[in-house]
Amino acid sequence: MLAPTKVKVEPGKLFINGRTLDASGGATFDTINPATGEVLTQVASGEERDIDLAVTAAREAFDSGPWTRKMSAADRSRILWKIGDLLMARAEELGELETLDSGKPVTENVKIDLPLAADCFHYYAGWATKIHGETIPVRGPFLNYTLREPVGVCGQITPWNFPILMAAWKVAPALACGNTVVLKPASYTPLTALRLAALCQEAGLPDGVLNVVTGAGSTAGMALVRHPLVDKIAVTGSTPVGQQIMREAAGTLKKVSLELGGKSPNIILADADLDAAARGAHTGIFYNKGEICTAGSRLFVEEGAHDTLMEKLIDRARKTVPGDPLDPKCRFGPQVSEAQMNTILRYIGKGKEEGARLVTGGNRAKVGDGRGFFVEPTIFDAVNDDMTIAREEIFGPVLSVIPFKGIEEGIARANQTIYGLAAGVWTKDIKKAHRLARELRAGTVWINTYNNFDNASPFGGYKMSGFGRELGAAALDLYTQIKSVWVDLS
Ligand code: NDP
Repeated sequence: MLAPTKVKVEPGKLFINGRTLDASGGATFDTINPATGEVLTQVASGEERDIDLAVTAAREAFDSGPWTRKMSAADRSRILWKIGDLLMARAEELGELETLDSGKPVTENVKIDLPLAADCFHYYAGWATKIHGETIPVRGPFLNYTLREPVGVCGQITPWNFPILMAAWKVAPALACGNTVVLKPASYTPLTALRLAALCQEAGLPDGVLNVVTGAGSTAGMALVRHPLVDKIAVTGSTPVGQQIMREAAGTLKKVSLELGGKSPNIILADADLDAAARGAHTGIFYNKGEICTAGSRLFVEEGAHDTLMEKLIDRARKTVPGDPLDPKCRFGPQVSEAQMNTILRYIGKGKEEGARLVTGGNRAKVGDGRGFFVEPTIFDAVNDDMTIAREEIFGPVLSVIPFKGIEEGIARANQTIYGLAAGVWTKDIKKAHRLARELRAGTVWINTYNNFDNASPFGGYKMSGFGRELGAAALDLYTQIKSVWVDLS
């Protein structure tokens, strides 16, 4: 028996033009509590017609509503700030709902994700009044200046691993720049995005500015990508889905930004503080039960540090016991779905088959009556670069420890991946640290730390981890376009 919850789970409806609606075809899908395997509620299964309705509302709101053309940037800023305030005020309730829908530990939702989501709206509330063009000293008797204008209707597709936080990362900068939005949340975790829409309305966001359509990626998501009245698509998800979206977006030449998968190297040099490195390697892979795109899933350990580090790592992993995510003490919940759990268990099987040494974990874990989708924190040692578990994104609590000799070999092998989202470096040698920061081909490099995020610091991938930078001032480039204006002064 898992902990009871106070949150009232309502069926999920589409949120279009300020109104809640059933899907036009009346279809629904179940959303499941991954800690128990039980159906939480039914959610509207939006399809092409619903996307069209939402895009039309967003288009009208952009072309003739108050948000983009009539409201001052200062007024938009005030609404964004209020959204941040409401997210903080409802952090407990929303955090609990997120836990029920995703299996993320409630304490992490309430203390980390919700405050970060609220701060994201506060951060971009600050930017709303600071988005402007330049005057440019051109040749001849001309005044030349630029206008920095919103892109238009933004289609945003979010994943299931940080549902409300990823919605905030996308919606807040888009709104700060004066755009309108149609958001399609992941089908495993649609509930908090719908709450966010209601809360934006409560904060005074005009109708049609933010619309949320729940439904399958292959139908509702694809319809959003193809819709001719959508100007921009922003996606966080897997690399194959990113590739498909990019191909489809070519039909209407939409602007695209993609935050995709990773297989991030976390490199521990022999001179590192091994207690700190073990702590960083542990959170690097096991935070959010490994369902994090920046997971430091390839742990490169320099000869000399290996044995001591392994002892510390295994000790930490064994103390991380999967548990009821509604328990405030829980730090390790269930995987998001049965399918995801089975994928992870298959990868563990592959690791064993291909000769990696399983040193801890490796099984489904039993919590409560055993129907939840829990996997033990798992560590493989003696992994080599060619093994499947060293190459493919597992998106689960499976660490591959890869021994190496010397910094040159470390750099070369760390970069031997199609991905380039993040990397970690552990050393006391400042020269080596900065050299690695330059040579690692990744959008984020953490030195003597791992998985730090701040709404002010840009985030995104190199190589097949995608392109475009979310967060910070960089995100304003995703959601604005520049117009050059010439005036003859002769
Ligand atoms: P997907 O990439 O399939 O899903 C991400 C989002 O894209 C969801 O909202 C999904 O909708 C939507 N989507 C899926 N297919 C399409 C499509 N053809 N057109 C438009 N939108 C689409 O990730 P999964 O949820 O299936 O997870 C699979 C793997 O992806 C994970 O195991 C992990 O490796 C990786 N992943 C990486 C993430 C990251 O942050 N880098 C985040 C999530 C997953 P729907 O949910 O309805 O399918």
